[in-house]
Amino acid sequence: ALSIGIVGLPNVGKSTLFNALSAAGAQAANYPFCTIEPNVGVVPVPDERLDKLSALVKPLKKIPTSLEFVDIAGLVRGASKGEGLGNQFLGNIRQVDAVLHVLRCFVDDNVTHVEGGVDPVRDRDVVDTELCLKDLETVEKRRERSQKNTKMGGKAGDEAKAELVVLDKVKAGLDSAITVRAQKLTSDERAVLKDLFLLTDKPVLYVANISEKQIGKEDSDPMVQRVREMAAKEGAGVVVLAAAMEAEIQQLPEEERPGFLESAGLTEPGLHKVVREGYKLLGLQTYFTVGEQECRAWTIHKGDKAPQAAGVIHSDFERGFIKAEVMRWEDLLKYGSESAVKEKGLLRVEGKEYVVQDGDCMHFRFNV
Ligand code: GDP
Repeated sequence: ALSIGIVGLPNVGKSTLFNALSAAGAQAANYPFCTIEPNVGVVPVPDERLDKLSALVKPLKKIPTSLEFVDIAGLVRGASKGEGLGNQFLGNIRQVDAVLHVLRCFVDDNVTHVEGGVDPVRDRDVVDTELCLKDLETVEKRRERSQKNTKMGGKAGDEAKAELVVLDKVKAGLDSAITVRAQKLTSDERAVLKDLFLLTDKPVLYVANISEKQIGKEDSDPMVQRVREMAAKEGAGVVVLAAAMEAEIQQLPEEERPGFLESAGLTEPGLHKVVREGYKLLGLQTYFTVGEQECRAWTIHKGDKAPQAAGVIHSDFERGFIKAEVMRWEDLLKYGSESAVKEKGLLRVEGKEYVVQDGDCMHFRFNV
């Protein structure tokens, strides 16, 4: 499963957000190194379309698709040199597919700030610098190897020389604390870096963690504005939320949530935005299977063809794929049943080359 790592300096609200997200485990406490083990939470992806389809079909089960979040422990200044939990957590970042960077925008004198005062852009720089330093180490190690290999003759030697050019370029960027994702690299250059799993090459989404008092005033909040400007420069997204309140919302019984949200001036939990944006960041999309037994959302990559989409359900479906019956979720909702959609001529039969679209309702035919 694809996963998103939650990073940030201590006491910015990572665990609070993670707890809200997974509503499981991980104690939030006012202490820098409390989140020692990486915590993994599987979070349902909120999807109105699935809700509507389920309301129509009334299946026995409604199963949303999910996304994995990993709470990554205490990144601090000096981490790349082994400070705090040092290298241990950096390895955890290496394994995730995208990064959710939590920035503290809330002021609370009862919550210590490890860097002295609240300054989300500085915090972001501290974290990125550590990650750049770690990447620098990785790139330098590889560089040494490539350098040795340049002495080989023939194709291997040529490849090593070409590699060295890319590594030098990336190293120069990292030396000036420019993240790999912000460096303008060609796809060939990226290919050289692929198996290095560089930390600063992962797509990033920022969370501006504000206090409850700031809700509804985000647009005039100077700290939120600074975060937005900073993120815009690198083309990254920002979700603004109050982690502490998000955690509270998750504690409430389901039926009390809408009223609570309304009184807080929210139309939906901020968590929903986090999950949706994270999903987008990873280049993921959703198709549905709709039946009386279950209505279910499935995750695929943009560009996946019908057999691959079938393979998400079961590898047999992919291997034995014959064809797929496809309709748009909007059509199913509008006409009320598959047969009605068919009568309108809107039920298509698609083959192996069909690129599945976000919001397709699929029915697969396959050999076993
Ligand atoms: P982590 O070290 O980044 O995982 O931070 P935690 O989630 O453990 O939060 C550190 C402290 O900040 C805890 O006491 C939280 O209750 C508090 N905190 C987290 N989010 C908020 C928030 O939105 N508002 C306020 N006032 N406190 C928060």
